Amino acid sequence: MTRAETRRIYVGGVPIGGGAPVTVQSMCNTKTEDVPATLAQIERLREAGCDIVRLAVPNMEAARSLGEIKEKAGLPIVADIHFDYRLAIEAAAAGADKIRINPGNIGSPEKVRAVADACRARNIPIRVGVNSGSLEKDLLLKYGAPTAKAMVESARRHIELLNSFDFDDICLSLKASSVPLTVEANLLAAREFPYPLHLGITEAGTAYSGLVQSAVGLGALLCQGIGDTIRVSLTADPVEEVRAGIAILKAAGLRKGGVRLISCPSCGRCGIDLIRTAEEVEAMLAGCPRDITVAVMGCVVNGPGEAREADYGLAGGQGVGVLFKKGRVVGKIPSEKLAQALVELIKQDDAKS
Ligand code: SF4
Repeated sequence: MTRAETRRIYVGGVPIGGGAPVTVQSMCNTKTEDVPATLAQIERLREAGCDIVRLAVPNMEAARSLGEIKEKAGLPIVADIHFDYRLAIEAAAAGADKIRINPGNIGSPEKVRAVADACRARNIPIRVGVNSGSLEKDLLLKYGAPTAKAMVESARRHIELLNSFDFDDICLSLKASSVPLTVEANLLAAREFPYPLHLGITEAGTAYSGLVQSAVGLGALLCQGIGDTIRVSLTADPVEEVRAGIAILKAAGLRKGGVRLISCPSCGRCGIDLIRTAEEVEAMLAGCPRDITVAVMGCVVNGPGEAREADYGLAGGQGVGVLFKKGRVVGKIPSEKLAQALVELIKQDDAKS
């Protein structure tokens, strides 16, 4: 896959765009001014693999809290600003690594200039975050609805405004709760702008439906080389957003490392409790650092053959199943011990590698 060429920005020390690995972001759902709770959640996100974390800044207390959070957090901090440009200026002064503003509600050009000046002085980028639900009224009148072209025009307007203030350290997002609209808007934006793109489906839903929406929308773009950083929005623990984001990047071939589990859907030939076995194997290998594919198959008739590309696998049978490695059967094991035996085989090789 050829990645779209974009400029590079830095959020803290983390690069976005310009060929850098696609990063995973999430957003805390704590009150930002509750510093201990926010720091605890940031740490959980970091442990889950999050690269950058965004915090809501709805008031001055939250903006001023960013100083202590920045000092103690293990991740770069993005301040999320709506309506009041003074919060952006305070957040930049407190040490935020990036400011996200919504062009639809930040106010007059002079207010945007003040934010740009504050960010330039501290060398921190701005994300222009266009949201289909809060487009400027004149654009809604012109296009009749929040279309992809309306979203791109909103982005263009604010990029030109920032550029006119000699500010170019920009990241861009165009989000909608509709997957086709998000995909169309980002395809247009990737053709039009040189800036790195932050991808996301906004208000995507709960852990299951939100993951599906995000996987389809972000996957469609990532597989075309579009997108430099992602956030999977879920009505769930933010840690789930990070897990989902990493899984999407892995599925798109953009992140290596860790186990890729493949398992058959099972059918009338299945000889074991496949659902339980697959879940056990997945849980036991959760921390495995090696970049391997592990197959859990329901029967010996087709299992090893269907999972030929797997590095390791098991295939169930009536009472006894097989373990296989690189397509070759390496052991016959009673069905109830298959999952454990497979994990032991992998861990023995982990120890050797
Ligand atoms: Fe059915 Fe066996 Fe294929 Fe699984 S591996 S789907 S049990 S034929």
